[in-house]
Amino acid sequence: MPQSEKKAVFLDRDGTLNVEKGYIGNLDDIELYEGVAQAIRRLNDAGYLCILTTNQTGPARGYYDEGHVQALNQRVCRLLDEQAGARLDAVYYCPHLGPAAGGVVEPYNVDCTCRKPATGMIDEACRQLGPVDRRHSWVVGDKATDVEFGHNAGMNSVLLLSGYGLRVLAGEYQVLKQPPTLVARRLPDAVASIIEGSKKQVSV
Ligand SMILES: [Mg+2]
Ligand SMILES: [Zn+2]
Repeated sequence: MPQSEKKAVFLDRDGTLNVEKGYIGNLDDIELYEGVAQAIRRLNDAGYLCILTTNQTGPARGYYDEGHVQALNQRVCRLLDEQAGARLDAVYYCPHLGPAAGGVVEPYNVDCTCRKPATGMIDEACRQLGPVDRRHSWVVGDKATDVEFGHNAGMNSVLLLSGYGLRVLAGEYQVLKQPPTLVARRLPDAVASIIEGSKKQVSV
């Protein structure tokens, strides 16, 4: 691969980093899963770009404003830093939801190109952070739409069993249109597999 291409892990937020609790109205209700901050720190230290990519339909549904989404994301960043000195290199969120899907608040009630599984957030990250080695990069999340997001972007994917993942795997929530590259119990297990896999690639 060209030297300038970086490896990246695109991380979902709810059910992946923080405990899935539905729409979070109170900042204090953000709670990272055990070991998540340490796992992100491992990715930082291994040289992976760590990029948050999250669908947040609260503003389009009228549950809260866009500033609240940003405050929630900042709270996640602060907890990652406090618990392990871990860092996200960039944060992207889609606040949109088309009218047919229940979006009611302007200007968020539009069909956009950034709502996962569309690849707008990954494309924007690649423009802003430089070329990404997609073949060795990953999308990690707890929904079928996260797996599809990785597939659409030409990346590997991990379906976690935290959040909605167990129900996705059981066929009770969403439909997996393609199998994930890996299934992992929680984010720290996914990170271990990603890092161990990349070591193997180096050694052969
Ligand atoms: Mg999720
Ligand atoms: Zn969007």
